[in-house]
Amino acid sequence: MALIVARPQGLYCPAGDFYIDPWRPVERAVITHGHGDHARVGHAHYLAAAPGAGVLRARLGGISLETLPYGTSILHHGVRLSLHPAGHVLGSAQVRLEHGGEVWVASGDYKVEADATCAPFEPVRCNAFITESTFGLPIYRWQPQAALFAQINDWWRGNAAQGRTSVLFCYALGKAQRILAGLDPAIGPLVAHGAVEPLNAVYRTAGVALPPTRSVAEVDPAGLKHALVLAPPSAQNSPWLRRFGDYADAFASGWMQLRGARRRRAVDRGFVVSDHADWPGLLTAIAATGAERVFVTHGQSGPLVRWLCETEGLAAQTLQTEYGDEDDTPIGVAA
Ligand SMILES: [Zn+2]
Ligand SMILES: [Zn+2]
Repeated sequence: MALIVARPQGLYCPAGDFYIDPWRPVERAVITHGHGDHARVGHAHYLAAAPGAGVLRARLGGISLETLPYGTSILHHGVRLSLHPAGHVLGSAQVRLEHGGEVWVASGDYKVEADATCAPFEPVRCNAFITESTFGLPIYRWQPQAALFAQINDWWRGNAAQGRTSVLFCYALGKAQRILAGLDPAIGPLVAHGAVEPLNAVYRTAGVALPPTRSVAEVDPAGLKHALVLAPPSAQNSPWLRRFGDYADAFASGWMQLRGARRRRAVDRGFVVSDHADWPGLLTAIAATGAERVFVTHGQSGPLVRWLCETEGLAAQTLQTEYGDEDDTPIGVAA
């Protein structure tokens, strides 16, 4: 029997009578992480990994939230449930379900390369694995993070030397903190947009070391000339940017690997950085589960399903969901 099935409200566990990242209001929701397409308001009860509690409260307010430390299991209607790090954003979890001698894992969004801002991805053995495929094409291959941060630091240093503010657009939850943790704070002041700073605060409270950030009002005009500003994509073309005068801008996203995406964003630079697995990462993670059945949710599901069936000999199929609206939204589609 399937431990997880698709229902109009979301992914459902019939034996346990609960949902995983449901997109319509339900009684019991297990939440993999705080991005808006996975964590929605309106459910009666929430269960999530303990390190993600601050993120969920910051985004969803006063929800009825129960948390579980990574790796601790609970029994609910005979279903053993545990949460395991997904390496995606602070508190992100894969949901492991065990019932009737079968193990299923719903991974939410995940990234296999470890970073300084959340617990690293943990492969979990299972019979059936539900995977994302945001970057499920062989063209997506991320460079090592050290090289990426060196590029961003060089760009910032170069702009500062010319007396131009560096404005870096990136998603406020996860991406901004990962970039902050990798930057060289000696280059100049770090400025966080008002949409980014509350999440920085949540990360710091959870014990993640981030360099100090200031609001734009806290930096004098001369300091702003060599500052790096982290702002959400929605701040692009907003009047808020006028205060920086002649600034350099860049966008940080996995989609920056596509030449057309950078052009459509109309920024000076694109940095290829993602909180999702690249193509080799997806294949490695799927292989490590040992799963014989794979369900592929949001992103490039068609090519990944074909690859898993034809090359890996797995029973893979697409699972229709409503994920994929917030983090790393394809540029030109909905951003
Ligand atoms: Zn996500
Ligand atoms: Zn997602």
